[in-house]
Amino acid sequence: MLDLESLFKLSYGMCIVSSKKEGRVNGCIVNTVFQITPEPPMVAASINRECLTHEYILDSKVFGVSILSQEAPMQFIGKFGFRSGRDIDKFEGITYKMGQTGAPIVLDNTVGFLEAEVTESIDIETHTLFIANVVACEAIDDGEPMTYAYYRDIKHGRTPKTAATYIAVEAKSKWKQGALGMKKYKCLMCGYVYDPGVGDPDNGVKAGTSFEDLPDDWVCPDCGAGKDEFDPVED
Ligand code: FE
Repeated sequence: MLDLESLFKLSYGMCIVSSKKEGRVNGCIVNTVFQITPEPPMVAASINRECLTHEYILDSKVFGVSILSQEAPMQFIGKFGFRSGRDIDKFEGITYKMGQTGAPIVLDNTVGFLEAEVTESIDIETHTLFIANVVACEAIDDGEPMTYAYYRDIKHGRTPKTAATYIAVEAKSKWKQGALGMKKYKCLMCGYVYDPGVGDPDNGVKAGTSFEDLPDDWVCPDCGAGKDEFDPVED
């Protein structure tokens, strides 16, 4: 028996893993950073090879970990979790500082951070496990850290396909079949509802545009999730 639902009962913390390359910075949300040894303090982070942050860590051999507060809004999580640094500058409009390793440390919605230098990288299928020495760390807020369970159960957040803890579900891409007319579609990540009668005028989508006719690169205006993270709203 392989009841994958049980894996959701493992506890994880939500954080932004960040790194640098050639004067540029990027970061992504992961829930797969854990401490390996207390002395010396060492951590491991499992990062998908498709992520730009993965490329940056391979290059710079350093990463930062900004530990998210329970108060972090979905829009903020979406920006770091569902958008790619290849498409947008995720740090634009974000309060952050450059750490001593040169990795950026996010200060918004963050209860603490650490910086680490990679000592070993282990290839594991789709991911790399980076093992690293902690070279700096600081608690910056008394607030509660966000666990993955809180994100999933309270915030109703989902997991992008590139995440280490992603569990495949039945294809949701019903919109690809078309012929659903002017149905409303709900973002599975954050609950935003796309209403064809309203469109998404802030992002250049006129009222009267069906969900199917939205450009393929259209993303949820609230959290940044892509079209395939939407489901039609049942009448
Ligand atoms: Fe959304």
